[in-house]
Amino acid sequence: MAIQIKIPDWREREDSIEKVIEHHPDVPIFTILKTDLHRRGYVLSAAARAKIDVNIHHTNGIHLTGESDSTTVEGLVLRDGTLVCNGCVSDDEVVLRDPYLIDVDENDRIVITDQGRIYEEAEFWRKPDYYDKVTSKGTPMWKVANVRGKRIDSELNKYCEFWDTPGDGCKYCGIGVYGVQEKKCGHQLRVDPDDLAETLQEALKQKGRFLQFNATQGSLLGGAKLLDDELELCLDSLVRIKKLFSRFPLKASLVTTALDGQQLERLRDEGGIGIYTANIEVLNKELFQWICPGKARHIGYDGWKGRLEEAVSIFGKGNVYTDIIGGLELATPHGFKTEDEALESVLKEADLLSQKGIQVVDFVWRVYQNTIFKNQVSPSLDYYVRLSQGISALHDAYGLNNYSRDYARSGNQPSGDLDRIRRRSELGKIG
Ligand code: SF4
Repeated sequence: MAIQIKIPDWREREDSIEKVIEHHPDVPIFTILKTDLHRRGYVLSAAARAKIDVNIHHTNGIHLTGESDSTTVEGLVLRDGTLVCNGCVSDDEVVLRDPYLIDVDENDRIVITDQGRIYEEAEFWRKPDYYDKVTSKGTPMWKVANVRGKRIDSELNKYCEFWDTPGDGCKYCGIGVYGVQEKKCGHQLRVDPDDLAETLQEALKQKGRFLQFNATQGSLLGGAKLLDDELELCLDSLVRIKKLFSRFPLKASLVTTALDGQQLERLRDEGGIGIYTANIEVLNKELFQWICPGKARHIGYDGWKGRLEEAVSIFGKGNVYTDIIGGLELATPHGFKTEDEALESVLKEADLLSQKGIQVVDFVWRVYQNTIFKNQVSPSLDYYVRLSQGISALHDAYGLNNYSRDYARSGNQPSGDLDRIRRRSELGKIG
């Protein structure tokens, strides 16, 4: 099988990375390269694959979109600590643009290349100590929690109930499609809370490795009130593990569908959560209704924003996040027609949320072929660089310190990488 490139002439249509670097002298090359690695993906040469040592490197990841095996690595780290996660393109994948090639150079270094040019050195992520252990119930711990940099992540439930109603799933989403397949196959969809407690205890034995615990899951709409089932699923795990949260330097973080105020208070009081995320994904009311119809029908765009605002009153300014998938606003036929219009509109809306103490963070959209949006085209590299600059400037303008989506704890949000640089320049000013 070979990788298929859907836009073979994309290099003629878009500015090269060299040009983008030249246009943005204030953005580190590491951040631009990381952004493009997420946008285009990467493949490993045979020489790079031969460098993978399963005893040392982080392979075999579990994600809401599937599992990876030992033939690839979970991510790369660049010389300045920048993380690149989940970017590896599989042998039979259909992608929009040619992926980068991770290769080995004449000095035996792992390098990021494209068309024969070496852009940077990289290292493969290191495997955490708990990874090959099994819980007392016999579950491999790598299936219970995964790692992104200094954050340990657990995906409590793989199935999203928006997919129960035809047409309600988010159009860019590969999680829902995978969850539907897993459910059909009768596979385990939920993490066992006892397994999770045991895995976290084991992970914490590795001193200095982890800064934060984070959990996420697919939406569960049922219960006495909308989303009570999702809340109870989270609490079922959180109450068993919250005594461990004080052993992480940073507050525990949770991603859910937008819960209401009463539900959020329970998350804080019973679940011990200090950082909360509910992902709006698209910052435009009409586009949200088109792209996320289930979310729009059950909660609505204004309702989602209202719940984020309520979350700030419960968790505090800067402790509430909402992710956006950069580029969805350009999806055809209803999206913006130009990147300039899209950027202006997204940043205006992000400004309104930031004023209320909500941190907007930007993802780079990879168009997966198992999603409803499989025929869409993600924007140019220049667009992503401008978007991340704009978002990071908002964090700065409204004093929103990014403690959960920065360069060391997530990996796919370029604005988080820029936040680090911005804070450093502020210190310079104070001195
Ligand atoms: S809420 Fe939307 S993005 Fe999240 S898992 Fe469900 S369908 Fe996917």
